Amino acid sequence: MVQEQIIERGIRDKKVIAALLKVPRHRFVPSEYKNSAYIDSPLPIGYNQTISQPYIVALMTELLQLRGDEKVLEIGTGSGYQAAILAELTKEVYTIEILEPLVREAETRLMNLGYQNIKVKCGDGFLGWEEFAPFDAIIVTCAPLEIPPRLIEQLREKGRMIIPVGKRFQELKLIIKEEGKATVKDIIPVRFVPMIRAKR
Ligand code: SAH
Repeated sequence: MVQEQIIERGIRDKKVIAALLKVPRHRFVPSEYKNSAYIDSPLPIGYNQTISQPYIVALMTELLQLRGDEKVLEIGTGSGYQAAILAELTKEVYTIEILEPLVREAETRLMNLGYQNIKVKCGDGFLGWEEFAPFDAIIVTCAPLEIPPRLIEQLREKGRMIIPVGKRFQELKLIIKEEGKATVKDIIPVRFVPMIRAKR
């Protein structure tokens, strides 16, 4: 997986490559998909949600340019795979998932794998996680129609955010916060599950 899907497609960051080699992706997919865990594709994880394609996980992670001492926020915990990759590369990971059963499954899985630097909570990612803000980096793994303003607020000055934006087809965007303003750069077209609004 790492040679063909990650390195040959241009991911260069050695630490990102090492993290993808280390995290056991088969532990993050339902048992009926274990044999497909390393294929070049997203996979179902139940509740109509998916674990992202390995290349997209690597690309989004590389674009965050983590050095190891950052506090990172993820929106859309899903299986917890992306959170585990981040936890290999930085000090503190905070991840929010809106679907309760996925939160519980991800928490158990990450605990069994020994991750102690990941905090998972059930909540609405549109609100971010005020208590631990500001974040040095934010990664959103579900797609809103627009960039959520609260997430920009909770991003540290010079912080980086990577987020798919759009309806059925989305553009992956890299946002850098400079002097309180967001500069936005389009990366590639992608397809993620929609970022849903919490019912009130
Ligand atoms: N990063 C995940 C893949 C996530 S799929 C992994 O590595 O497995 C996207 C996830 O975003 C889904 O689990 C979905 O339930 C969640 N999601 C959708 N809208 C959300 C919201 N408003 N807040 C938090 N999570 C949300």
